Amino acid sequence: MELDTNDLKVMGAVKKGITTFGGIKNGVNLKKDELVKILDILDNSELIRSSSSTGLFGQKKLIIELTGKGDEKIEEYLEILRDKWREMIDLAIAGERAQLDQIITENPYMVNMMVFFGVTDLPTLSRLNLRFLLEGKHLCYKCKKELKRFMQKFSVSDVRKFNFKLPRGMTTRDDLCADCFNKLTR
Ligand SMILES: [Zn+2]
Repeated sequence: MELDTNDLKVMGAVKKGITTFGGIKNGVNLKKDELVKILDILDNSELIRSSSSTGLFGQKKLIIELTGKGDEKIEEYLEILRDKWREMIDLAIAGERAQLDQIITENPYMVNMMVFFGVTDLPTLSRLNLRFLLEGKHLCYKCKKELKRFMQKFSVSDVRKFNFKLPRGMTTRDDLCADCFNKLTR
């Protein structure tokens, strides 16, 4: 079966030693019904096993563990992430921006998952100038600097309005920062 990012994150949380429903829910940032559904799928696929134990005050507690099969699956996935990360470092060093972009287009959440699983971390991504590979950040099309909410942004129509040369490959979904916009020529 094909696991999606949330399935893998739930299994990753369990692998990190978080075994309670509430702990996983907060660790992965999911709604209650979403997590119930995922746990159900993982349980049916024999990737996790759950048991209930009685807490200190007699309350029932659900304890979730990875099965051997589940643990194997996560280890396999981690191995893929580590290989991919090494490949991406090589591409970054070689300046192969287009190939890096291609990897992220095919798998938008891959670098987020690398951070989640500790294959890499945010300081390393910053140092290598690779933070733009994280999904959910809006970045300048040219320099890949993060465009924060109150920063000036320039779109394709701004570029056209001033008759500047449009950066190659820039689309209506992209924006430029003020610095890059000011460096454009006619
Ligand atoms: Zn820029």
